[in-house]
Amino acid sequence: MFDIQEIRSQFSILDQKVNGKPLVYLDNAATSQKPDSVLKVWETYYKELNANVHRGIHTLSQLATEEMERSRRKIQKFINAKHDFEVIFTKGTTEGLNLISYILTQKLKKDDEIIISYLEHHSNIVPWQLLCERTGAKLKVIPMDENGILQLDVFDTLLSEKTKIVSMNQVSNALGVINPVGEIIARTRKNSDAYIVIDGAQSVPHFTIDVQAMDCDFFVFSGHKMYAPMGTGILYGKQEILEELPPFHGGGEMIATCSFEETTYAGLPFKYEAGTPNVGGNIALGAAVDFILQTGHENIRAHENALLEYAQRQLLEIEGLKVYGEKANRTGVVSFNLEGIGIASDVGMILDKLGIAVRTGHHCTQPIMSFFNIAGTVRASFAVYNTFNEIDILVEGVKKAQKMLG
Ligand code: PMP
Repeated sequence: MFDIQEIRSQFSILDQKVNGKPLVYLDNAATSQKPDSVLKVWETYYKELNANVHRGIHTLSQLATEEMERSRRKIQKFINAKHDFEVIFTKGTTEGLNLISYILTQKLKKDDEIIISYLEHHSNIVPWQLLCERTGAKLKVIPMDENGILQLDVFDTLLSEKTKIVSMNQVSNALGVINPVGEIIARTRKNSDAYIVIDGAQSVPHFTIDVQAMDCDFFVFSGHKMYAPMGTGILYGKQEILEELPPFHGGGEMIATCSFEETTYAGLPFKYEAGTPNVGGNIALGAAVDFILQTGHENIRAHENALLEYAQRQLLEIEGLKVYGEKANRTGVVSFNLEGIGIASDVGMILDKLGIAVRTGHHCTQPIMSFFNIAGTVRASFAVYNTFNEIDILVEGVKKAQKMLG
């Protein structure tokens, strides 16, 4: 049984007032809150286990290493990777995407092509632009329609033997729209041998992920949007690809042997984990996986969908309120503006006075904002601990903002 009060009781941070009002936290696409179980694991690591991993003969170092490697195996199962060494700890999606774009440098030459989608976060645009600068490759973009739906027929015309990389997100952070990655991957596999990179930052908190069934080459996500601490993240890559490609950062941990004349590299996953990792954070990421599995993917999805439907229905009744993006096929994100109120942050500031946390602005997706000819939106995004009552408070808040600013 899904018991929302029991879920909420696991998140101490929610039980507070902001500006004199009960906190209504609806900025989950930016970062989720962390359950006490995750914080406890993190704290226990520092209180009882803190030591550097993989290097020490002493007991604490061995225990810390075991815990971090146990967490890696949890994440392996969570995304259904074939091997635990295909799971690389990073500090987040941005680092994962930069890592991939860097290690693929030698695979590209002038006039090769990289395809991304219109719906990308800047972190899935800029690393590819940098790669184009290094190699002379060209960036191509799958267009979208006015509902934020990618135009697959145009994708077919972009895909060619020149395509070396196809990279896109599974869910858009600005609109919440779920992208047809299955279809994109199938068409890519059929017509090219491009590397396929999936940004799962906004999907991992909401659905079951199976990287083998998906058949992507790389899959990246951040821990902090899935109930884990900031500064954690995962890069998944297929074994044969990660083994073939060069390292990213050089340093400790990633070598097998090192002399002034020659260095040989460690095997996976260490080849891609130079330097001291975020041990406490990585262990706590495993605890966040436990939280999601204990809560149940189906429960999370069903509850967030119900919140989304409830919120959209009420918000769309407000005259002059426009919701961006396709309404049916999305995660718990509502991105909107009020007619006649050009500055989304004005709405956000009024909501903040009412204790409601939403995000306003371009959400690191300026191309999407340019497409709609707007500077930004107000984005309310839901997590498993949000309630219908909080949606009511949001709707009343938006009405109040409209009255005050209109
Ligand atoms: N991609 C998407 C779809 C995102 O939503 C985000 C975070 N807003 C990122 C990439 C970047 O993630 P991070 O800032 O955690 O590296």
